[in-house]
Amino acid sequence: MFNKLFSYFSHDVGIDLGTANTLVWVKGKGIVIREPSVVAMHKKTKKVIAIGTEAKKMVGKTPSTIITVKPLHGGVIADFDATLAMISHYIQQVHQVGNVIPVAWSRPRVVIGIPSSVTEVERRAVWEAALSSGAREAFLIEEPMAAAIGEEISVFLPTGAMVVDIGGGTTEVAIISLGGIVVSRSLKLAGDDMDNAILHYIRLRHGLLLGDRTAEELKIKIGSAYEQKSKVKLQNSKEGPEETKEERVDPKPLNERTIKIAVVRGRDIETGLPKSLRVSEVEVREALSPVVSQIIDGITDVLEEAPPELTSDILEHGILLTGGGSLLAGLDHLIVERTHIPVMRADDPLTSVVRGTGKVLEDDSLLQRVKVIGGLRQ
Ligand code: ADP
Ligand code: MG
Repeated sequence: MFNKLFSYFSHDVGIDLGTANTLVWVKGKGIVIREPSVVAMHKKTKKVIAIGTEAKKMVGKTPSTIITVKPLHGGVIADFDATLAMISHYIQQVHQVGNVIPVAWSRPRVVIGIPSSVTEVERRAVWEAALSSGAREAFLIEEPMAAAIGEEISVFLPTGAMVVDIGGGTTEVAIISLGGIVVSRSLKLAGDDMDNAILHYIRLRHGLLLGDRTAEELKIKIGSAYEQKSKVKLQNSKEGPEETKEERVDPKPLNERTIKIAVVRGRDIETGLPKSLRVSEVEVREALSPVVSQIIDGITDVLEEAPPELTSDILEHGILLTGGGSLLAGLDHLIVERTHIPVMRADDPLTSVVRGTGKVLEDDSLLQRVKVIGGLRQ
């Protein structure tokens, strides 16, 4: 009875606690918050100064008294206080907007997607943090499961489905069957490592020191994993089904095709002065190649560990590719080439997990079947 009363006042909340981005879903409303997972704190007192976009703006510009942290660095909870501060901040923020009832009375149900590498002890603490932020009930689900549900994959069938979620700090590779994760691996290699690879490459090759954000921008603007044979082909590949790409014949000779170039600014190592540089997509692809190859090795490792019946399902149905890192141009193509397995890209890979938490909130029996930890406050 009381539960019903509480649910009348509260917004049930789904949270994707990503290493790069935190997204919040409110039942009946959809995605209401999308912010970088960054917290700025006082170095000594650990008092939180800013969370999300505000905090990200401070990265690299803080005086010595302030630090900015990524609470979920490398898929594990690197800074506990910061993680907890972030969870409570968002749960409370959702309840402040357009709600006269304070969070203390509203008591929402909260579903949180966490990387599968987060340890048992840490899961428990995240769960407790949600409860102490005012949640009536808190549930955790593993991110690959949430992503699969978000992308409408039937997770309860006895058919193996493979999910590869390339985020900022981790790549989650998992095979799901009968509502559970059969094999999984969390690689500490994802979008951030792509940025670092670009940074190192430009420093070694051109003696230029780039900022982290510049490296990320280069990756997003001109980065790719696979050489597109021509500009024509590049445009076509966006619309057509993936499989047709390979067959298309290059209409222009190699030297005529348009190579994407970007101009970046950094600091010259020798002179210490600012300098700009023209970087081509070829260089960025070369820089990214080792990271991309290791991610693909991680995928094949999981495939090798999987029971043969499931492998044949995956060969037939393909791999679901999601997470922000999956937006790297040509990555799907390279995975197909290396693994000979079809790849499906999520339409909106940055939101697969949070949409999955939203679906789970709508369907209690689904929630009971996929949760890894949760239940009533004692
Ligand atoms: P997480 O789940 O770990 O929070 P996300 O799924 O939000 O991570 O993805 C963030 C990563 O995706 C970042 O490394 C970001 O640079 C990368 N990313 C976003 N857009 C693109 C793009 N167009 N091309 C390549 N990488 C991208
Ligand atoms: Mg994610």
